[in-house]
Amino acid sequence: PYAAIGIEVNVDYVTAVAVDLSGRRLLSWRRSFPGATSAPGQAVAAVAGIVRRVVNRMAKEERQVLGVTVGVPGLVGLDGTVRIAPNLGWRDADLCGDLTKALRDPGFPVQVDNDANLAALAEHRFGPQAGTADLVYLTGEIGVGAGVILDGRLRRGGQGFGGEIGHLQLDPLGAECRCGRLGCLEAVAGIGAVLEQAALSPADVEAELEEVVRLARDGDPRTLTILKNVGHSLGKGVALAANLLNPEVVILGGYYVPLAPWLLPAVEAEMRGRMIAPDAGGCRVVASTLGYDAAALGGAARVLDSVDSGRLPRIS
Ligand code: BGC
Ligand code: ZN
Repeated sequence: PYAAIGIEVNVDYVTAVAVDLSGRRLLSWRRSFPGATSAPGQAVAAVAGIVRRVVNRMAKEERQVLGVTVGVPGLVGLDGTVRIAPNLGWRDADLCGDLTKALRDPGFPVQVDNDANLAALAEHRFGPQAGTADLVYLTGEIGVGAGVILDGRLRRGGQGFGGEIGHLQLDPLGAECRCGRLGCLEAVAGIGAVLEQAALSPADVEAELEEVVRLARDGDPRTLTILKNVGHSLGKGVALAANLLNPEVVILGGYYVPLAPWLLPAVEAEMRGRMIAPDAGGCRVVASTLGYDAAALGGAARVLDSVDSGRLPRIS
């Protein structure tokens, strides 16, 4: 039997997933990771260690690893080079090449992709909206990114840098973004903005978000206002994507998921008000159900896609 591995390195965590050919998760693992203060070389070493452990686990189950795809929160060229990862502070890091070297002739291909792209692939292959021809996945991390699937195919753009919705300017006078510009969507509607307004430090994002959810459930007026405002900002971003692409569904993922009950009404109201198409072009906005390992799962999906399309040999 076979296994495909997906890994995601983000600003505050690292996730690993292994699946079989049908996409069944064989393993799912998540730990906090100081992405924001780690140099690319440290990330390469950490990921190489994780890959080795997963490969060993798979070997014990007599599974042959077909490949690994690593997702990162940034612009990844079609050659697997991370060109800019604003919230990691990385530029021009040859993650794919360096990881392949660190794994010393692993016997399977290594690929690198954008986190939101991979999560969109996971939704398209395994999610409740699987097979939907036109979908946009919006990942709510410290940054905000989009994975765009049109006519059933992930669209990366000419150089691989498409879907950078987090850096569309929503407010010319808005807060400074980690990309250096002002008022980007992620600076006003990213999880960092939620935590900042709630006066919580983004040190342990998951734990801080639990606190936000608890306050919202208790009906804390300040928290409800913050979530409503963030929802409206996010809705402006969703409307931009929906006016441009007319997707059937926009899926909110990552840290947006636990906040979805409070964000979604504002997002939907904003989207409906801003869309020119009748009935908002039929676009629905939903929360992802795949969990925090969606991008890693999508990494595994990309390996399976490569096998299906014959770009990767499957030795029988
Ligand atoms: C990056 C995107 C990424 C998103 C979510 C943004 O800051 O520019 O490439 O997809 O964060 O991690
Ligand atoms: Zn920006």
